[in-house]
Amino acid sequence: MSEWKRTIGVGNRPSHLRFPRALLFDLDGTLYRGKQRIPGADRLIRSLQERGVPCWFVTNNSSRTPDEVSDHLLAMGIPATPRQVVTSSLAAADYAQRRHPGASAYVIGETGLHQALAEAGIRVLPDGEEAAASLVVVGIDRNFTYGKLAIAVRHMLNGAAYLLTNPDKLLPSDGGLQPGAGTLGAALTAATGIEPAVIGKPSAILMDFALERAGLLPEEVWVIGDNPYTDIAAARAAGCASVLTLTGLCTAEDWEQQCRGAQAMPDAVCVDLDELDIMLRTTESDQ
Ligand SMILES: [Mg+2]
Repeated sequence: MSEWKRTIGVGNRPSHLRFPRALLFDLDGTLYRGKQRIPGADRLIRSLQERGVPCWFVTNNSSRTPDEVSDHLLAMGIPATPRQVVTSSLAAADYAQRRHPGASAYVIGETGLHQALAEAGIRVLPDGEEAAASLVVVGIDRNFTYGKLAIAVRHMLNGAAYLLTNPDKLLPSDGGLQPGAGTLGAALTAATGIEPAVIGKPSAILMDFALERAGLLPEEVWVIGDNPYTDIAAARAAGCASVLTLTGLCTAEDWEQQCRGAQAMPDAVCVDLDELDIMLRTTESDQ
């Protein structure tokens, strides 16, 4: 049996893991699936809150605002405030503000991205304005058109820098898989040959932004997620410990193969959120 198989199960907590000062949770596939809460998510987050363990909700989803995400969590009985929600849109706006101060941005995206950029003081070119953009920012946009693609490509060929909120090419939805921001971004790259600065997981940029907001160092937190390619890879890129939960993408049969495929092994694997809860309590009482 491999080293990693032995981490499955609450009796097998890796001894190097110390109790975290905060937890950075992925959302879709970890705490809920669409509108459906993952069993135990409400109990786990409430109990962590009661024990004074800060929880942050870190999502690649750029379409929703933090208020919308926290409302969605609250509707499922999971306590959350907008402040605890860290989206790829917030991190993209922060990145734009730091790296491209004074930029005029052409934006392909939804409310969450537009609001984050506006709040960061980034000037967003209104539709139809012919002025040159120094930055093109792309997130999921379910009203994407050939016209928007053509404008973005023109700005990029004229020298605009290119940010992509998240590289997810496909997203699970109630009606099956649907194209994500990464697919729209791929069209811009196909046309221009320009690769984006990727903000969301597996990039460390979103994690670094969440850590800065939490005021913590990478070694002080655990990242919890269902996806080795994004959550676990981002945790490793940022230098954080990570726990894979078998609540979404991976099963007990295929998680190891998926992690090897992603070249991202977690520090521990929990079959569900109850097992994560027990592992956290065991780690806490050991210290
Ligand atoms: Mg997920």
